[in-house]
Amino acid sequence: MTVGVVGAGISGLSLVHALADEDEDVVAFEARDEPGGVMRSRRVDGRVLELGPQRLRLTPGLESMIDDLGLRDQLRTGDDDQPLYVYHDGSLEVVPLSLREAITTDLLSPLGKLRILKEPLTDSARPGETVEEYLVRKFGHQAAHRFLGPLYSGLYGTAPENMLMEYSLGRALENAGIDGSVLLWVARKLLSGRETPPICTFDDGLGELTTGLYEAHAETIALDTPVERIDDAGDGYELVTDEGTERVDDVVLTTPAPTSADLLESVDADLAATLRKFNYNPIGMVFVESDLERDGIGALVPSGADIGISGSTWNASFLDRDRVFTCYVDPGSDPEMTDRSDEELGEVAAAEFERLTGAAASPIHVHRWNPGMPAYDRSWTAMDDLEAPDGLHFCANYVGRPGIPGRLRNAKRLAGELSDD
Ligand SMILES: Cc1cc2nc3c(=O)[nH]c(=O)nc-3n(C[C@H](O)[C@H](O)[C@H](O)COP(=O)(O)OP(=O)(O)OC[C@H]3O[C@@H](n4cnc5c(N)ncnc54)[C@H](O)[C@@H]3O)c2cc1C
Repeated sequence: MTVGVVGAGISGLSLVHALADEDEDVVAFEARDEPGGVMRSRRVDGRVLELGPQRLRLTPGLESMIDDLGLRDQLRTGDDDQPLYVYHDGSLEVVPLSLREAITTDLLSPLGKLRILKEPLTDSARPGETVEEYLVRKFGHQAAHRFLGPLYSGLYGTAPENMLMEYSLGRALENAGIDGSVLLWVARKLLSGRETPPICTFDDGLGELTTGLYEAHAETIALDTPVERIDDAGDGYELVTDEGTERVDDVVLTTPAPTSADLLESVDADLAATLRKFNYNPIGMVFVESDLERDGIGALVPSGADIGISGSTWNASFLDRDRVFTCYVDPGSDPEMTDRSDEELGEVAAAEFERLTGAAASPIHVHRWNPGMPAYDRSWTAMDDLEAPDGLHFCANYVGRPGIPGRLRNAKRLAGELSDD
């Protein structure tokens, strides 16, 4: 059996790695001349910038991959004991993520704190409920609006009132094994003493992981070779590229939904139409240098706040990256972002970072992603109609969790299923 993989981002690369572990024949095609997809690191004026994900959790799955690839010496762990902040009423407040912070935070009034304790008495998600409705019903207005909503929806750039539980946070809770009270689940986790894996990256950025994966399997991955079309070959598929046609038994698509739709048009037009329904939010990444001296992981900005960035990651502080801070811009935080030149977007975001933190900042680099993050908005109800024909599989962030640990798990599970067939 030969498996054809379309795309060599972290999903495609970790799938190739897992299939090689299962001794399966695999051939992968990547449109760009470098592997990694959105997991991309750059050096600009000597500084490491992460154009996509900023850091990972060092899960056991990731650790064993790092050892397989001989990357242990380049691994860096970050200091995630530092606070995360949220913008509220003109200043930055600590997000209460620990018991100590929950008691001491100024973000919630005493009544707001007490309201959270009622959560175990409330029901699980209700059919048709939005993330906004769920969070308010479970934790009260203050916690929902001041930090829980921004904490979850800020990742995707979609306002909580536009996200349906069943297709967004509900799936994340289910994956984590939470089917009743979130608070009791957190309490059990704290009592069990089980530690959350530390935050990590590599000396030259996360791109070291994808480069390492590519180099380990370079003979099976064709870079600079976009798949132009997928054809049904009766008992398998044909992947059509500029270089010729590759006949495979199974195809795995790791490309974003709009690209997958174009590639599958001739195989299954209904499936292609379903894939076209999924919305993604564009994201602007603006890297700034600043002397901000406060320790922190970053700062969230609730949707609707009067700040023109949706948040920032403080790479200088928790990853010890030389004065580098990453600002995020989406159409919710800056409706004019698509009309702005990179230079203007950089200047605007640096000024907004300064308003947010009080520290002067100047832009170093701007990168835009479109498509960026899956929006997990109401368009995600199309998941109900996503049915792939035999031999065709998706291993992409719209069918599983978008975080890197989720991508690695998804790839390993699929490799196991393909090898059992
Ligand atoms: C801005 C941003 C920040 C993020 N931050 C974090 C974070 O901090 N932590 C975390 O865990 N996750 C984070 N994520 C999520 C995570 O990075 C992504 O979900 C994950 O990297 C997606 O990987 P992928 O391989 O599924 O898709 P992609 O990286 O999109 O890979 C798809 C690949 O397919 C290729 N391709 C496209 N068309 C074709 C074609 N026709 N033929 C062949 N190849 C093709 C593309 O070039 C690309 O390399 C972030 C995502 C974004 C966008």
